[in-house]
Amino acid sequence: MTQSPTKRTDSIDQDQFLTILSREEALARFEAALFPRALRGEPRKLADALGCALSEDVTAPIDVPPFDRSNVDGFAVRSADLASASETAPVRLRLNDEVIACGVAPTRPVLSGTATNIATGGPLPRGADAIVMVEHTQPAGPRAIEIRRAASPGQFVASAGSDIARGEALLRAGTIIGSREIGMLAACGIAAVAVVRKPRVAVISTGDELVQPGEALRPAAIYDSNGAIVTSAIDENGGEAHFLGAIADDEAALEAVMRKALADSDMLVLSGGTSKGAGDVSHRIIARLGKPGIIAHGVALKPGKPLCLAVCDGKPVIILPGFPTSAMFTFHDMIVPVLRRMAGLPPRADATVAARIPVRITSELGRTEFVMVSLVEGADGLIAYPTGKGSGAITSFSQSDGFLKIDALADQMPAGTQAEVTLFTPHVRVPDLVIVGSHCTGLDLVTAQLARNGLFVRSIAVGSLGGLAAARRGECDLAPIHLFDEKSETYNTPFLADGLELVPGWRRMQGIVFRKGDARFEDRNVQEAVAAALADPACIMVNRNQGAGTRILIDRLLGDNRPDGYWNQPRSHNAVAAAVAQHRADWGMTIAPVAHASGLGFIPLAEEHYDFALVEARKDRPAVRAFLDALKSEEARTALTRAGFRPA
Ligand code: AMP
Ligand code: MG
Repeated sequence: MTQSPTKRTDSIDQDQFLTILSREEALARFEAALFPRALRGEPRKLADALGCALSEDVTAPIDVPPFDRSNVDGFAVRSADLASASETAPVRLRLNDEVIACGVAPTRPVLSGTATNIATGGPLPRGADAIVMVEHTQPAGPRAIEIRRAASPGQFVASAGSDIARGEALLRAGTIIGSREIGMLAACGIAAVAVVRKPRVAVISTGDELVQPGEALRPAAIYDSNGAIVTSAIDENGGEAHFLGAIADDEAALEAVMRKALADSDMLVLSGGTSKGAGDVSHRIIARLGKPGIIAHGVALKPGKPLCLAVCDGKPVIILPGFPTSAMFTFHDMIVPVLRRMAGLPPRADATVAARIPVRITSELGRTEFVMVSLVEGADGLIAYPTGKGSGAITSFSQSDGFLKIDALADQMPAGTQAEVTLFTPHVRVPDLVIVGSHCTGLDLVTAQLARNGLFVRSIAVGSLGGLAAARRGECDLAPIHLFDEKSETYNTPFLADGLELVPGWRRMQGIVFRKGDARFEDRNVQEAVAAALADPACIMVNRNQGAGTRILIDRLLGDNRPDGYWNQPRSHNAVAAAVAQHRADWGMTIAPVAHASGLGFIPLAEEHYDFALVEARKDRPAVRAFLDALKSEEARTALTRAGFRPA
């Protein structure tokens, strides 16, 4: 029996994906297949050389300065003439008939008993061996000066080659050219240098669902963020990225683009299509692009397991996982070291800080796990909050200061651990005000004023209960909460612990959302609307998660009914509105501002109280005071009201 070529490729891929390598093993095999390799140099004009690595040593072709020159404005003299000069016995020197300005070559010698007027940077005339500062002289008639102190030989003279000597090794191969290096090269008159040629890296996003930023979003499509992330990360690390756009999951079309891209580049980076899902084709193509082909497909990393590393005829070909967070972490951890080596750059030196973990972080045994964290100042040192929303989330990056690594052999990092946090940028700014708890769009309307006044506010969304726990541990200034106590039928106050004080925030009207024009809901009150929904078997609802205050209201309205959609229980007000707007559900319960922002109809039911648990010990901090003032301000109250909230 003969096997078709396609079938054979499939079975090879299957095998490779089942062999998951450790992070270290995968990187070692990848590097072994790529290095050592010769770095190619190319001449580059100084103006374009910033950030490049020198491919050869640079020897100074001239002396800098090229001649002995004056370091001050004054007079060129013979020091021996001034040996006896003092306050009581000034020496009088005749002025020579020239002024040596910058760029003027002297024509007359300084003979004994004479001096020549010289500017800073002027070349020392013949005969002179020192400079006297103009401040230390007095005019003595039109053509003479008097000097009341001695001068040592060489005083205020910068001699030829004292800065850079001709023939000296000015810069070594491998040096990264920054503005200081450019300055040194320019001072020697060097207009072009040999640099390591930047590796040309082709970048391709894959997926039928991808739309480029700037274009309109189709239904079920998402914006291509990996293209932009990977392109800029390549440029940041010494490569020259060429983004070729997003290619649909079509094997033939993708193969054509990949072949052309690889022929034109030193390296190819794709994202998406690396899992075994339907339509994931890029890894199948790689097997046909060159030898040895796939080195690792499946690495024990989290996020980032489906990473695929290949070398095709000496060129690295990488498929990053599709999820942006996974793509970014695997790129930085596994690809950047290789890219930098190819660019002649040293390994990245990431800044790290020590910080305490306030909550236990669970981790999958057997995979090196990266956890993004947000830093806040605690009573005794930095605290690192995990900010991950899962590998599909992109916002985690902007809310994070860095990440920590959990070893493959650990299944958790216990609360209280002092961890090493690798910073995304070396300049962390610890926030002035830390808000940890439930997030509300209204919050941004209050903190806007603080931001305008230069205060850095960090808000970490962990839900009401998570916020209260953080407040009790003193890890934040304020915890926004909206917790309903069924027994007392009141909001928030029953949940306060010692050391916490309730600051009233605003009220959020909760009610039923529906698509405008739906006769089952339009112009009805809540009870009528729910009755109409329950009476229609085709009507689908969207519920809320257990524990949400809104859920209690829904349960009361439904009684024992369990209509279609009851088990769809998202965790946020926005997800409810999105489900209704996208026709996945016909009704649900959310807050008025969210319903209105989505253009949905709304039937009000009851107000939810969104308040702040204030940590009393932090009450007098300037940023806390600023927040409390902003909360009371006319500006914030107006903005909140306009957005559909009711300030308390
Ligand atoms: P894939 O590996 O192609 O199955 O993709 C995994 C997930 O990542 C899917 O939800 C994709 O929509 C998403 N994804 C893939 N490529 C990109 C991209 N370039 N930008 C943003 N998300 C992406
Ligand atoms: Mg895909």
